[in-house]
Amino acid sequence: FVELKGVTKRFGTNTVLENLDLAIPQGHMVTLLGPSGCGKTTVLRLVAGLEKPSEGRIYIDGEDVTDRSIQQRDICMVFQSYALFPHMSLGENIGYGLKMLGRPKSEIRDRVNEALALVDLEGFADRYVDQISGGQQQRVALARALILKPKVLLFDEPLSNLDANLRRSMREKIRELQQQFNITSLYVTHDQSEAFAVSDSVLVMNKGHIMQMGSPQALYRQPASRFMASFMGEAN
Ligand code: ATP
Repeated sequence: FVELKGVTKRFGTNTVLENLDLAIPQGHMVTLLGPSGCGKTTVLRLVAGLEKPSEGRIYIDGEDVTDRSIQQRDICMVFQSYALFPHMSLGENIGYGLKMLGRPKSEIRDRVNEALALVDLEGFADRYVDQISGGQQQRVALARALILKPKVLLFDEPLSNLDANLRRSMREKIRELQQQFNITSLYVTHDQSEAFAVSDSVLVMNKGHIMQMGSPQALYRQPASRFMASFMGEAN
């Protein structure tokens, strides 16, 4: 469903990703793990259309999207910083994408209320960003993505600004909604336990190469290399 074929990405003379092949089946949640600087965020930005590959092609739903912009890819991103507009109410934040698409006001209002209910924030439409907690802001960011019913959801360290308890409940919420709507998702994190809790498959990268991809259990039981064995061991 989301496919990278022979993708290489260079910044100047620095080869950040080399000849990457990756296929994520429809409805799967794949988490990217690996040492700092290994290229995780770059993979996400390539899928989003925020960067162009130096070589190789990217496909979504069987279509070659390599030359399309983020607006033409039917994708939403959820970031570590929630990137909400402070001068707009939460309802206006969530409905912003639909407003840009020219949807009627009554439809926007109904869909905003539905989206707020999905993230357990019924009745919050008229509040402002500075009146809610960080965890609630991240829920609003999630609602803002879900309301657009994207084909693909991309998460870049979405929970790293939250405390441990909130992280746990938010990652369960993200997983529940991702499964409910069957949205193909890529999730970048530093947190191995988070990765294992939210995903169908974990993809471990090192220095721009894929070291192994598989279910969390498979990576534990059958690490494919010495790197993988020590990488998996570090978290224990
Ligand atoms: P982290 O876990 O620290 O966020 P990462 O695995 O997400 O790291 P990337 O952010 O993808 O890694 O970066 C991979 C490499 O690409 C790094 O060496 C980084 O310096 C380089 N890089 C990323 N973006 C750019 C850019 N716009 N210009 C030049 N180099 C870049």
